[in-house]
Order: sequence, then structure tokens, then C-alpha cells
Amino acid sequence: MRMATSGGANYRNGTYRSSLKVDKPLSLNSNPKSSVKSKPLPSSGPRRNSTGSLGTATGAAKDDAGVPGRVRVAVRLRPRIAEESVGDADFADCVELQPELKRLKLRKNNWDSDTYEFDEVLTEFASQKRVYEVVAKPVVESVLDGYNGTIMAYGQTGTGKTYTLGRLGEEDTAARGIMVRAMEDILADISLETDSVLVSYLQLYMETIQDLLDPPNDNISIVEDPKTGDVSLPGASLVEIRNQQSFLELLRLGEAHRFAANTKLNTESSRSHAILMVHVKRSVKGRQSALSTENGANSHLKMLKPPIVRKGKLVVVDLAGSERIDKSGSEGHALEEAKSINLSLSALGKCINALAENSAHVPVRDSKLTRLLKDSFGGTARTSLVITIGPSPRHRGETASTIMFGQRAMKVENMLKLKEEFDYKSLSRRLDIQLDKLIAEHERQQKAFEDEIERISIEAQTRISDVERNYEEALEKERLKYQKDYMESIKKLEEQLVKNQQKHGNEKVPVGLKGDGSALTSNTESSKVSAVEEVAELKKVLQKESLLRKAAEEEVKSLKSQLAHCKRSEASGNSDILKLRKMLEDEARQKEKLEGEIAILHGQLLQLSFEADETRRRLDRGGSEVSGALDSLISQVKLQQHDSTNGEKASVAKLFEQVGLQKILSLLEAEDADVRIHAVKVVANLAAEETNQGKIVEAGGLTSLLMLLRSSEDETIHRVAAGAIANLAMNETNQELIMAQGGIGLLSTTAANADDPQTLRMVAGAIANLCGNDKLQMKLRGEGGIKALLGMIRCRHADVLAQVARGIANFAKCESRASTQGNKTGRSLLIEDGALPWIVQNANNEASPIRRHIELALCHLAQHEANAKDMISGGALWELVRISRDCSREDIRTLARRTLTASPTFQAEMRRLRIDY
Ligand code: ADP
Ligand code: MG
Repeated sequence: MRMATSGGANYRNGTYRSSLKVDKPLSLNSNPKSSVKSKPLPSSGPRRNSTGSLGTATGAAKDDAGVPGRVRVAVRLRPRIAEESVGDADFADCVELQPELKRLKLRKNNWDSDTYEFDEVLTEFASQKRVYEVVAKPVVESVLDGYNGTIMAYGQTGTGKTYTLGRLGEEDTAARGIMVRAMEDILADISLETDSVLVSYLQLYMETIQDLLDPPNDNISIVEDPKTGDVSLPGASLVEIRNQQSFLELLRLGEAHRFAANTKLNTESSRSHAILMVHVKRSVKGRQSALSTENGANSHLKMLKPPIVRKGKLVVVDLAGSERIDKSGSEGHALEEAKSINLSLSALGKCINALAENSAHVPVRDSKLTRLLKDSFGGTARTSLVITIGPSPRHRGETASTIMFGQRAMKVENMLKLKEEFDYKSLSRRLDIQLDKLIAEHERQQKAFEDEIERISIEAQTRISDVERNYEEALEKERLKYQKDYMESIKKLEEQLVKNQQKHGNEKVPVGLKGDGSALTSNTESSKVSAVEEVAELKKVLQKESLLRKAAEEEVKSLKSQLAHCKRSEASGNSDILKLRKMLEDEARQKEKLEGEIAILHGQLLQLSFEADETRRRLDRGGSEVSGALDSLISQVKLQQHDSTNGEKASVAKLFEQVGLQKILSLLEAEDADVRIHAVKVVANLAAEETNQGKIVEAGGLTSLLMLLRSSEDETIHRVAAGAIANLAMNETNQELIMAQGGIGLLSTTAANADDPQTLRMVAGAIANLCGNDKLQMKLRGEGGIKALLGMIRCRHADVLAQVARGIANFAKCESRASTQGNKTGRSLLIEDGALPWIVQNANNEASPIRRHIELALCHLAQHEANAKDMISGGALWELVRISRDCSREDIRTLARRTLTASPTFQAEMRRLRIDY
């Protein structure tokens, strides 16, 4: 069986075929081949091979307990050198190699030889490459997989140890030795980003370890880890190797130092051991570590698993020449000296003997070399030994001794252990990086999310305003259309009426027409008369009712006095009282019932009058009767507002339905001024009731009211319409509608032209309501709302001023909110529009409604530093201090105090003025 040239998978993992060893020729005289007898190696013996198998795994060893691996031994024969060729020309070589059988025959004499089997037999023709591949490469690969490995050369001086291990091969690539080739393989296999290669180069001579990379450092001690038993040399230089060139330089430097050191000590390098240590640290990426496989690690835990580093240490030892300690081959007198000089080598021999013989005691501690190589023989490293021999029969003894050394070494069994550990530092690094990445990513996402929200809200806002605009337009269109239709149908009806009149000639039979177009022939005069009669009748009923009520009240009074009398008499008064109470209750019920009936009758009457009036209006366009109907409508609405029993409310709602809001609103645009006044009064009264407001706006009432402000010259209309608008302006949606329809401009103009305090109060009230809408601030101010408000202070009426103050307070509050939310910067628009002097003047107005609003306005203004300077120069600070001390309302006092304390500008000014509180 031939060795695979690639280095052979069977070489790794200790899967050698059973070796054969022939200690002695079995036949003394004949063909040695036939005398060879195989004998199993003790590797299958009980001492070290606890698993009973040399292993069959094809990958790296995964058993933490280690896998058995015998020390591999190859023998290499050096070619004859020039002088030997001459001197030994007549003599046959002392060895004969049978590489195909992996055997070596050592000639004892001309007829007898001993045959030995080795793991590899390398002839004098073996190339350096081949030697590397069969001896070293498996060890190097093992080191790359996280095991310790040792490659050693043992042999007599001059047999080619250094040639085998240390040739740099600079002139001839093919001559490169094991060290150079090993580093080439290591560098080719590792990743420079994640892995590292550190090298020490040492010399051991006379039990002293010297750093060949730093020769003055010549007393390096060996340190053993008490737990793992690992040996290290902390004192030695460790040079990181990142490329082959630096390694070659390191070797050259080491060799030069070795030469210089030996010259100085007057020794030969052959007496010292050269030790190259290569520490390979690799991170296990992508591969599953031996431990995770073993523990069946959960995949979700993998993330948190520290990366695994494998640390392999390759030790290449160029041993001192073996000749000095070999008794049989050394000159007697030098023996003792040689022993003392090279205690280490003899100790190595002893250890190997002890290990080979399964001796209980292995004298590892006897020398530095054996301590250093503790792991290489009988330890946990994969070890390859190349024994070098020369062909010369003159050194037969040396050669024989070398061969015996090799044979014994082959019996040494190692337990390979994977040097794998978790790299927590790099895990932490990795997690840190990951965390930072996640943080950054999260920040990005949050930003994107916020942007998206903003985008959506802007989009929503534009959509809402679009819809609103469209709705308004559609509403307006619709309204105009209906108005037009209405006018047209009236025109048609009038035409028809004229035609009818002509047709009937002088006959005075009027024809009435209902709004829906169905003809109704009736005598309007008689209908009017009957309506009037009915009103009279109802009035009578009402009078009777009031008389009844009065009488009942009288009775109650007298009963009460009777009751008192009864109480005094203490006799049978109780039953009387009960009776009387019952009567009283009946009376009240009766009264209620009657009132309900009255309301219903009123409604009916109103409808009848309305219809009659409308018909008449169409006929004679007089209008005066319409106002009469509306008057009753108004009184009805007023009645609804003053009393509030359910029956009445229901009846008014019914009336509302029966008469039709649309009809009432249409009268706002009637040509007749009286009709308009009455209509606007009705609408204003309805608008005072919150439940009606929505319907009014929906039916276009707001628009009509605003139109009245614009088109009418009548102060009453202005006052009433403004009042209605003020009522409608309590609702936020309506506020927007008012603004959208130019309400501020109309109210401003109305205010400018009005003298009546009540008109001004209404207008100011409407604007004050609008001032309380956050969204409308800018528009309101832009359209002169604040100026209009301030314009109204010319009227000194307290009611007007209270509304102005309310408007200012509302506006200041909204501004303060906007500033706090960061939607507004700079000083208050109230200050910009010159409101401050009036505010300061009226901060202590004796009318409490004015004072309260102004106090609040001051507190709101003071909450923003941008206003502070103006407020100080305008005297507002004094007012605030006063409010904070004297205001009768505790909440306002506290607010003022807090506001003053919070403002650095006010604080500074107060310190300056020595105001303290
Ligand atoms: P040692 O290991 O005892 O120091 P060296 O490596 O110095 O021996 O070799 C001694 C001499 O023999 C050197 O001149 C070297 O070039 C030569 N030599 C050794 N081995 C071989 C070989 N396999 N082929 C050719 N020359 C060799
Ligand atoms: Mg040498």
C-alpha cells in the first residue's frame, strides 16, 4: 500500500494501518524479507487507547476527551555527500530502504540485517515537497483545525535535520524545508481579518532557553497552566506573521542570531535545539463548532453564542545532534560531557523509552526539552518525527541508535485534543456592532414613521379642506338653483293669476294658489275674517283660562289659610288637608293640560295665519300681514324660550316642521324691509336655541344672515343678525363657516358703522367667539378681527367692553397654546395690533366680567418670553404682580404667580425693581 502523495487522509486522525516492527531478524542467515514477521503495535493496548480504536472519523477530532493518535515516525536517508562518496566508496551503505514496504534494513554485516518498519520511509531521492507532505502537512492541517502539533527532526549531526526542517529555499524553491512550507500552508488557509499567526523562535542550550528573535533574552522560563497542563513561554517574543516574506526574514534573523550566539559560546549549533513555535488562532465561522454539535444548541441561542476560536500550536524542533548521547556511537570520553551538555536530549530519550514501555513513570520534568515537548509525546498533540540518517557504514552505530529512537517513538500514543474555546470578547464586540446597527435602524424607521404620519396628516388636511370647499360650492350652487326655481315658479303663478283675473273679467273672485302649485279657490277675505275670529276666540279661551287660574290660586290661598287654621285646631284637619292637596294637584294637572292645548292651538293658528299671509302676500305683495304672522311666530319662539315644558317644545318643533325653516329663511331676502326684520328676528330667536342651530346652518341660514349684514342698511337687522351670528358662532364648525364666508370683514364693517351698543355687543360677542378658535387665529387677525374688536372700545358700554375683553382673552389663550406647542413664535399678535395699552388700562376695571377676562389675557400673554419686554414696558408687569397678590379668584392669583416665577425676564425685572413676593 502506497502512501497518498497528498499527505494521505489515513495519516491524519491517527488512522494508520497497523504498523509492523521487526526488532530482530527472525532468520539469521537467509532472505530477510521472508523473515519479517508482523507484530501488532501496542497502540491497541489498554494503556492509552481507551476507546480501543484508532478512530475512523474523516474530519477533525470532535471528542473533547481527545482521540488517540500515535506518534508518526518517518525515516529520511541523506544522500552520500562528496567526502563520503570518496571515503566510503568501497563500502556498501549501511542501510537499505524498501520505501514501497515502508521498511528499512540496517545491515549488521555482509550477510545479516535488521528490518524495521516505519510510517514513512524516505529515500535519498525524496524531494523536499514529498517530505513535507508526508511528514509535516498532516500536522499542519491538524494545527489549522485547532490541535497542537509537533514536527521534530532527530538524528546525528550532518544527517540533514536542518536541511529537512529549516531550508529557506531562496535560491531553489524546490529546496524549501518544512518550516517554510508549513507557514505557506498556514497563511494560505487562514483569514487575515479574523485569524492570527504569532511566532516565537528559540534556542535551547545547556538547559537555557534563549530568544533567537531577541538574543539578550536568554533566560526564558517555562510556565505550565496548572489546569490544562498547557506549556507556554511568556518571556519569549511573539511576532505576528502576516505574510511569507516576514516569516522568511524572521527565520533568517533567528538563524543569524543562533550562529552568533554559538560562536560566542564557542559551541556548535549541532549541540543546541532550535525551536520554532507557531501559534495559530482562528475564529470558527460558518462551521458548526464541535461544542454546539455536541450540545445540540438551539438555533435561537446561536445569535448569543460567542464565536469559537480554535488555537493550534505548531512546534517545529530541530534537535541537537544525537551522536553525543549514543553510547554505542560516541567516543567514551565525551559521553559524560555530552550528557551534561545535552541533558535535554537524553531526557527525551528516557521519556520516549518510558512511554514506549508503558512505564508508570515518565520523567518529563527532568529537562527543559521534555517539559516543552510534554504535549508532543504522550500528550495531546499530533506529533511527527523525522529521523535522519546518513548512508555511511562508518556511522552505523549512530544510525542504529537513531533508528531505535524512532522505533520507540512509534510506540508512543498521544491523545489528541481540540483546543477550542469561546471568544467572549469578540462576541461582545459583535453584539455591540449589531446593537448599534439596530439602534441606527430603529432611529431611521422612527424618522420615516414620523414623516409618514406628517405626510398623511397633511394629506388628510388638504383632503378635508377640499371636501369642505366642494361642499360649500355645491351648497351655494344648490341654494342659488332653488332660489331661481322658486322665483320662476312665483313668476309663473303670478302670470297665471293675471291671466285668471283677465279671464274672470270684473268678477271679484280672487284665486289663491298654494305654493305647491295646486289651485285652491277660496275667498281670502272670508279666510282672513275666520282667522281673525279664531284668534279672538282663542284669546277669549285664554282669558277664561287665566281667570280660572287666578280663581284656583285664590282657592289655594284660602285653603292654605284654612290649613293653618286646621293645624291650630288639631282636630280632623288632616283629612281636609289631604283632600285639598288632591284638589290642588288636579288643578295643576288641569292647568298643564290646558297650556299644552293652548300651545297646539297657537301652532295651528300660526300655520293658518302664515299660509293666509303668504297667499295674500303673493296676491297683493303688501307684506304687512306677513309681518303679523311672523310676529306670532316670534312670540311663539319666545314663548318656547321663556317656558320650557316638554309639551310646548314638542309643539314648537312641530310648528318648525309645519312652517318650514326654508320658508322662514327665504323671507330673510324678502324685498319688504319689515318682512326681513321679522324674519331675522325669528331666525335669531331660533338660533338662540342650540338644537336649532344645526338646522339653521344646514338650511343656509348662516349665509343669509351674513348676506343681511352686507346688504342691509337697517341697524335693527344688523343687531339682530349679528346676535344670531354670535349665537351660531359658539359652534366650532360654524366658526369656520363664518370665517370662510368673509364673516370677519362683514362684522368689522358692521362694527365700524354701528352706534347702538347692543349692535356692538352682538358683533363683539360674535368676534369674541371666533377668537376662541385655535385654527382661525391667523385668518381672524389677518382680516382685521383684532382691530375691529379694539375699534369697539370707543363705545364705553360695559357689555361691549366685556365682549371685547372676552375676545382678547380667548385670543390670548389660543396664542399661548400655539406657542407652547411650538406653532407660534414671536410676540403676541394682540401686542402687534396695539391691544396692550387697553388691556393694561382695564386690568383693574370695576366691572368684574371685563376685569376677569383681562386678568386671564394678561396671564396668557405673560406665559411667553417673547411678550415679556413689551409687557414690562407697557406696565403689564405691575398689573400681573397686583393680580398675583390681590385677585379675588384664587386660581387666577396662582396662575399669575406661576407665570411670573417662570419667566426669567420678569424675574430679572422684578429683582431690578426690588419687587419680591
Ligand atoms: P544537520 O541536521 O545535522 O544539521 P544538515 O541539514 O546541516 O544536517 O546537513 C548536512 C549537510 O548535508 C548539508 O550540507 C546539507 O546540505 C546536506 N544534506 C542533508 N540532507 C540532504 C539531502 N536530503 N539532500 C542533499 N543534501 C543534504
Ligand atoms: Mg542542523
